[in-house]
This record gives sequence, structure tokens and C-alpha cells, in this order.
Amino acid sequence: MKKYELKEEYTPRGIVFIPTFNCTAFCKHCNNNFDKHDLSKKMDINTAIKILYEGKKSGLNSIQITGGEITQYPEFILSLIPHAKKLAIRVCRPPTNAYIANDRKKASEFFFNLKKIDYTSGFRLSIDPYHQEKIPINWVSNFIAEYSKYFKLSSLTIGSCYYDTDKIYGLYNELINLLKKEGFKDVKIEKQDKKIIINGQKIKYGIWKPTRPSWKELEDYEVELKMIKNTMHCLGPKGVGYLWIEPDLKVRVCSCNGNTFLNYYIIGDLKKDKLQEIIERARGNKIFKILANYGPAGLREFLNKNEIILDTEKKYTFMCELCNEIVGNEEYLKKIIENLNNI
Ligand code: SF4
Ligand code: SF4
Repeated sequence: MKKYELKEEYTPRGIVFIPTFNCTAFCKHCNNNFDKHDLSKKMDINTAIKILYEGKKSGLNSIQITGGEITQYPEFILSLIPHAKKLAIRVCRPPTNAYIANDRKKASEFFFNLKKIDYTSGFRLSIDPYHQEKIPINWVSNFIAEYSKYFKLSSLTIGSCYYDTDKIYGLYNELINLLKKEGFKDVKIEKQDKKIIINGQKIKYGIWKPTRPSWKELEDYEVELKMIKNTMHCLGPKGVGYLWIEPDLKVRVCSCNGNTFLNYYIIGDLKKDKLQEIIERARGNKIFKILANYGPAGLREFLNKNEIILDTEKKYTFMCELCNEIVGNEEYLKKIIENLNNI
């Protein structure tokens, strides 16, 4: 085992708010487990605003708003953004499946109100065959058409998560035809630069394969399996860790833990704890400390210190899948702590 120096402390950089886990799309590859969450639960807006102010005092200077589908609860984003602006907190571009644009009038009102509060973060639209089984592509063209009345289209991006790239481009072509029918004259794809150009405004897109664990079983051909050798810092200060706050105000240590939603990642409950207390308590956790320094490959090295328990050649779809495998196994966790204490 190489020499490890556990210098970094667990330090979150921002907050991910989950105003609701609800979403009508139920995409196969979703990282939310809809069977595990109460989909009727919505985060109380005033409480979220208080958390934002508390977070700023704890040095949390950026937020993400995700779900679930955020446009099923548009009041949340409309209420939170003015406070984020006042506090100079960066708002990362939220993902949406364009649900709100099933009703054009409602979409138009939403964008009008966002413009009024000087919203500048844009949106990341999801377009892929898993989504479009439930969200028709014309909702996406409605979304873009209404959005363009208030905002520059270059503030939108598109994310497409599917294994067959041709099928994704098929959907992009359908979208382009619908946008032309909407009256946009010059609409084309520039594949080399991964951009859709609409009347001179560029919407960047990204295509990737889904990851596991997901809500439903994904076949090996749907994902990309690779060996995880070294991993980067997770959970700050050098990683990208965000506190993940759920509608019922439970707090998880990070926002990228796939659909297992392991209880181990729960580090507090804002119904009774202060945010700063939660951060300090989590800082004392040695597993999180290893993650903050070396990510899940570091956890595996501590686990394998005296004997190979977890095969380093095993393939995963991404590092969080490895993390989940270790963190979800109590024996592994005990062994890691034992090995760490014996260094
Ligand atoms: S991937 Fe997005 S749109 Fe699909 S079910 Fe999950 S939250 Fe909803
Ligand atoms: S590897 Fe673990 S700690 Fe890091 S982001 Fe993924 S689930 Fe979170």
C-alpha cells in the first residue's frame, strides 16, 4: 500500500436542494429510486431560504437545484433565487426534462417570472430515448420556443444519456424539425463542436452512457464498464462535494451517490440539527476523510491493505458505484477503520 497522508478535512462546497423527488418521467436510467422516496413530499420554501442563509455563514457559496423534476414545483426556484442573488451564491444550471412545457402558458409564465427576478443560470435539458418514452419531444421544442422569448438560447445546454448515439441524433433531428415549424429559420447541428445552432445562438450538448446503480436494471450493453484505478478527492475541499438536502430535510454527505441512497451517507437532519453542527460531525468520520483525500479507490486501498478483499480489476460504470459497494458493506467499513488505525 502506498503511503497515504490524510491531510484534507471533509468540507462541503455548496448545497444541492431537492425540492421534490417527484417526476412523471420515471426514466429507466434515473439515479433516483422512486420506490424509496415519498413523491408527494415537497421541501418547505421558507425553511430552504433559512438553510441558504445558514449555508452562506458556513462558507457554502454555490447551490444546485435538482430532483425529481424541478418544474413540477416552479415556486421553489422562483422563491429561492432572489435570496441566492442577495447572498452572491452561485446557482448552477439546473436539469429539467421540460415537463412544464406540456402547458405552454404555464411555461411562458414561469420564464416571465424568472426573467423578473433576473435569473441567469439557464437550464440543462434532457433529451434521450429513456426520457422521451414519457416526455414527448414537442414539450422540449415548446420549452425552447417559450424560453427564447425571455432568454438567450445559449444559456441552455442539452444532456443526452443513452447507449445508442444514432437514436439520440434521431431525436435531435425531430427537435430541429419541430423548431422550424415554430418559426425558427436557421436550425442545424454542428456535430464536431457538439452544438445545435438556432438562429445563430448555440446550445451545447453532451452525450454519455448511463451509470449504475440506476432505478431499473441496466444491461451491460447500455453502460460503459471500466476499471477504477485512482480516484480524485471527493467531498471537498479539493473535491466537488455538495451537501444533498432532501425534501424532508435529511442531509446526505454528497450528491452523487447513485440510487442506493444508503443510510450511511445521511449525516444529519435539519429538522433538529444546525447545518454547521452537521458539517462538523461529519468531519469526524474517518471514511469521509479518506473519501475527501483519495475518493473511493482510496477506500479500497485501505480495505485491501493486508489482503485483497475487493478485486482492483473489477469493472464499474463510475466511481460512485465502487463507493456504494464499499459503503454499503458494514464488514468492509469495519475493516477499513481497523486498517487505518493500525497504520
Ligand atoms: S432522469 Fe430526470 S426526467 Fe428521468 S425520471 Fe429521473 S429525474 Fe425524472
Ligand atoms: S465517490 Fe462516494 S463520496 Fe464521492 S461523490 Fe461518489 S458517492 Fe459521493
